[in-house]
Amino acid sequence: MKFTLFDTTLRDGAQTEGISFSLEDKLKIAKLLDELGIHYIEGGWPGSNPKDIEFFKAIKDVKLKHARIVAFSSTRRANIKVGEDKNIETLLKAETPAVSIFGKAWDFHVTDALKTTLEENIAMISDTIAYAKKAGKEVIFDAEHFFDGYKANPEYALKVLKTAEEAGADVLCLCDTNGGTLAFEVQKIITGIKTKFKAPLGIHAHNDSECAVSVSGMAVYCGCTQVQGTINGYGERCGNANLCSIIPILKLKMGIDCISDAQLKRLTEISRRIAEIANLPQSAHQPFVGRSAFSHKGGIHVSAVVKHPGTYEHVKPELVGNERRVTISELSGVSNLLVKAEEYKVDLKKDSPEVKQLIKVLKELEHQGYSFEEGEASFELLLKRTIGEIEPFFTLEEFKIETDKQGDKPAIVTAHVKLKVKGKHFDAVGIGDGPINALDNALRKVLEDIYPEIKTVKLTDYKVRVLNTEAGTAARVRVIVESADEKNVWNTVGVSTNVIEASWLALVDSIEYKLMKATNG
Ligand SMILES: [Zn+2]
Repeated sequence: MKFTLFDTTLRDGAQTEGISFSLEDKLKIAKLLDELGIHYIEGGWPGSNPKDIEFFKAIKDVKLKHARIVAFSSTRRANIKVGEDKNIETLLKAETPAVSIFGKAWDFHVTDALKTTLEENIAMISDTIAYAKKAGKEVIFDAEHFFDGYKANPEYALKVLKTAEEAGADVLCLCDTNGGTLAFEVQKIITGIKTKFKAPLGIHAHNDSECAVSVSGMAVYCGCTQVQGTINGYGERCGNANLCSIIPILKLKMGIDCISDAQLKRLTEISRRIAEIANLPQSAHQPFVGRSAFSHKGGIHVSAVVKHPGTYEHVKPELVGNERRVTISELSGVSNLLVKAEEYKVDLKKDSPEVKQLIKVLKELEHQGYSFEEGEASFELLLKRTIGEIEPFFTLEEFKIETDKQGDKPAIVTAHVKLKVKGKHFDAVGIGDGPINALDNALRKVLEDIYPEIKTVKLTDYKVRVLNTEAGTAARVRVIVESADEKNVWNTVGVSTNVIEASWLALVDSIEYKLMKATNG
């Protein structure tokens, strides 16, 4: 039986607190999901949201290589004819090849939330599926609250599924809508029911017990052939089952060839690009695709991992398009330095003058309060600058910051910047809601014309840490800036007694790092 991946980032995922996709965003995401090899893309609920109707119109002009677009809806309302239900009319008007229709599988929900009879709910499911089938649609039936319903009233939950199957549903998807079901319960329930149905079973799990991925894996182990989920686990409350974890688990651990090897290699990139579109930074600790998913901290782990990556890695990072990183807090030791140099493909000899020079510089910087563990991109730049592999892309001649606060109005910050780029002098003024924002704006005014590649760089996080608190306001501060473009995330660091100067140093490194990567590929 064919195995399928069903993505609901654009429907369930759009319910995430803090996410608001524009039409353009949705189209971009759909294209990325198609490239990833997702079989079904649920685009939204046309009956409940006019923005979703626009999506279904616009996606028709997009050439998808692979994925089928799905429109979502509830069953018809109680006590009306299916042909008279506006929701269902709008659903069919979306003109998608497939539809997902959800119906209640928990008696308590039927009587207490829908406020109708158990018999009418069965009729609603049957009528709606038969109607959509007659209209030529592939129908995925989402049995909402299936597991809770089965625990409360197994007979009724099974009757719901049977009704859907008899009405012609192509997939019966078992939903853990409240996210409270554990993997061993799923195993028990699915094993007990699967022989009763000929139609393929699917799983749609929410993550309220942090079990959505394990529940999905277990459901597949028990015979489900469709997994529904979202990229990065987006979804309301605690989110949906995370496809960025499920896909590699299926492919690398369960031997299910759900996408190609080449598509799997794009997983990290696609996770980050969709995070970028969602405007939510990807969590560094996200399994498989996070920046720290294969990072090893100094000491025994590093020496073992350098010899045999399998000692502390459950899969090879390159299979999911991620990379191994070694983070070392104290870099001013020769062996640690050489490990990092090798990672950056810089040829350093143990007793060379460059190594001696680097150790001297690093000792001084670590003494000042630099920590490269959280600002690794700054370290790579420092190393390559010291050995002369890269030249600065621009130099600062002067910057000035003015803050204007009038009465109760918000303060306005103006930054004046003078730079030298490729032998020429440039001036720019940037305005911002804070000094860093103003400096960033001024810097970009000059640099974006000369280096258009920095237009894709966004500052995604900014942290300030006070280093020697006993010195009060004269204390040194360490600023960490996290930046991202559509593919990568990197951290840079600056230290000074002046928070603006420290920020400037981290900001300059962020841009230089992007330019270095863009130049060297
Ligand atoms: Zn859901």
